Amino acid sequence: MARVYNFSAGPSMLPEAVLKQAADEMLDYQGSGQSVLEMSHRSKVFDKIIKDAEANLREIMNIPDNYKVLFLQGGGSTQFAMIPLNLMNKNKKADFVITGQWANKAYQEAARYGEAKIIASSKDKTFSYIPKLDSADFTPDADYFYICLNNTIYGTKWNNLPETGDVPLVADISSNILSEPIDVSKFGLLFAGAQKNVSGAGLTIVIIREDLIGNAMDFTPTMLNYKTHADADSLYNTPPCYAIYIAGLVFEWIKNNGGLEAMKAANEKKAKLLYDYLDSSKLFKGTVVPEDRSLMNVPFVTGDADLDAKFVKESTAVGLVNLKGHRSVGGMRASIYNAMPYEGVEALVEFMKKFEAENSK
Ligand SMILES: *Cc1c(COP(=O)(O)O)cnc(C)c1O
Repeated sequence: MARVYNFSAGPSMLPEAVLKQAADEMLDYQGSGQSVLEMSHRSKVFDKIIKDAEANLREIMNIPDNYKVLFLQGGGSTQFAMIPLNLMNKNKKADFVITGQWANKAYQEAARYGEAKIIASSKDKTFSYIPKLDSADFTPDADYFYICLNNTIYGTKWNNLPETGDVPLVADISSNILSEPIDVSKFGLLFAGAQKNVSGAGLTIVIIREDLIGNAMDFTPTMLNYKTHADADSLYNTPPCYAIYIAGLVFEWIKNNGGLEAMKAANEKKAKLLYDYLDSSKLFKGTVVPEDRSLMNVPFVTGDADLDAKFVKESTAVGLVNLKGHRSVGGMRASIYNAMPYEGVEALVEFMKKFEAENSK
């Protein structure tokens, strides 16, 4: 069996140990005589799966007791509406920093429900940096302050959080959840679509401070009210059972492999290998300012669209797949989530060196 190194931004690679365990348990999950795909979400067996998954996530992320963990559907994108519906409820105001398309979509959706204000944007330079903020611009009575912590498309990440005082900080962590430790207590709400670093598509994880639950706008659909899911321990309706099961296996895998400190060390080592090469290469260059570079998503270009296309074609042929960049940046993007082994990044860098030698004028 030849598995490729998959650099896709999402859905993306999962740890091989997790896939093997899921395969072993496919027909008969731990003596239940059924697959997790088939079992009732109200069964004792599934209850243990979801409870264990939550307990392990709380442990590895060190989630304080006054936060709820919700396992929802609808992808990261549904949160763009759910957040204003539930949080933009006191003064109907929220602040946004536009660091890319995902933050912009969250802003546009919130603008339908209240006064959404753009505090800063890095659009002027194709979102290749995180803007510096002046807290004098912040709305003092905003209901929340919104950022996208890791910008999947552009390859930037926030290293210093905005100081928002009593205004709850809300962050999209779809592409960096579990990549390194994060101080949950600094946030009012964190959310992530699972298909980048946690599980398959279909599961969205929301971590929300309890005092932010229960004040949704009157017309909020029942399914889009955090209270509905918080009160029912994410079992109000049928949850994405299989994706929750895989997430649970990934949480165990992280726990057994040293937790988030170890993930961070491994991710830094992988990213350094690739960035160091990009900084030394005469053919390739990274598109992000060094101080804001993501550990997870690494865009790079040659500056020549034909050469970029040749690179993508030739890398695919040797089992380094999904390296084509997002159309708004062009070039290439290597997404190197937790499950990408160091050897995968080594193979990529070796291939890039070879390509550079063959294609320099
Ligand atoms: C992928 C992604 C999304 C969208 O997620 P869906 O689950 O496809 O809706 C939102 N935000 C970020 C940062 C992402 O990387």
